[in-house]
Amino acid sequence: MIVNMSDQATQLQIAHVVDRIRELGYQAHITQGAERTIIAAVGSSGRRSELEALKAAPGVDDVVAIAHPFKLVSRQARGARSVVDVGGVCIGGPEAIVIAGPCSVESREQIFSTARAVKAAGACMLRGGAYKPRTSPYEFQGLGVEALSLLREAGDETGLPVVTEVMGTEDVDVISEYADMLQVGARNMQNFVLLRRLARVDKPVLLKRGPSATVKEWLLAAEYLLSGGNTQVVLCERGIKTFETEMRNTLDLAAVALARELSHLPVIADPSHGTGKRELIAAASRAAIAIGADGIIVEVHPCPERALSDGPQSLDFAGFESLMLDLQKPLRAVFNPAARSVVAR
Ligand code: PEP
Ligand code: MN
Repeated sequence: MIVNMSDQATQLQIAHVVDRIRELGYQAHITQGAERTIIAAVGSSGRRSELEALKAAPGVDDVVAIAHPFKLVSRQARGARSVVDVGGVCIGGPEAIVIAGPCSVESREQIFSTARAVKAAGACMLRGGAYKPRTSPYEFQGLGVEALSLLREAGDETGLPVVTEVMGTEDVDVISEYADMLQVGARNMQNFVLLRRLARVDKPVLLKRGPSATVKEWLLAAEYLLSGGNTQVVLCERGIKTFETEMRNTLDLAAVALARELSHLPVIADPSHGTGKRELIAAASRAAIAIGADGIIVEVHPCPERALSDGPQSLDFAGFESLMLDLQKPLRAVFNPAARSVVAR
């Protein structure tokens, strides 16, 4: 249930409502908006009608049920969209952001040259895998702590906050020492033990959508983070499994719009994993921004043909620069009012 306090509500009245919610066996999550306070009561103590009775409490405007199973993630739970600050970069604000870097950190030279190139082209965050979830155990698994340290150094030199994947609870502490944001990979979206652990970390989390997860399951995975205390969550659509075989995954762009409709959390798109083909990345990125994504995360490598992971979907430096220029062009109009016609291209 959501308790909407009136814009005149006093701190004492707010505290009374919070106390009563807790007394009834629910958690109280408070959002202090610009004009009013919203208190979300979540839990399953079964004392719903008593919660509803809070309508009569002083300073309360309204008590309404949250329509979705993902309570704190739902749009209703907050008056406004969330903005997640990652080392000074705001995700979910008025400007779409670009995160770029290699799939895996492979060497000092590789991560430093990539960091400098993506920074020069306009990226605002650096990505790079240190612990890699590979389909085959014989493929490159990442350089571990060595990669974390190189990523941190490259981020510091260029002034780019860094994001890297955490695959298991045992790595959370060490990755938190080095990274500004922790990525939950697609394969781990429903690793509830990991989600519960990350809920207790004071770092933003980038939560990728599982390859076979519905939007509801994705948002419920985010609910694990918020209900456990971590509200700094960014969602990432990275493509799902469909019958299509020409692309690695199917980038579900409508899900970006849907997740933003259902939730207050920022949503970014990953056109690299979403298509698996570097030649589609510019088009998919433009489409993602057009549909409302709060940013994109893109794989870039100094020499994609030599990449130890995900070469075919990685842009080289020139390709990334040209993507950044493409993103500055206005999206083409589909209707020309002067000519009263639809523009063909
Ligand atoms: C990655 O970002 O390199 C990665 C492995 O992503 P995903 O979990 O989306 O496959
Ligand atoms: Mn990758």
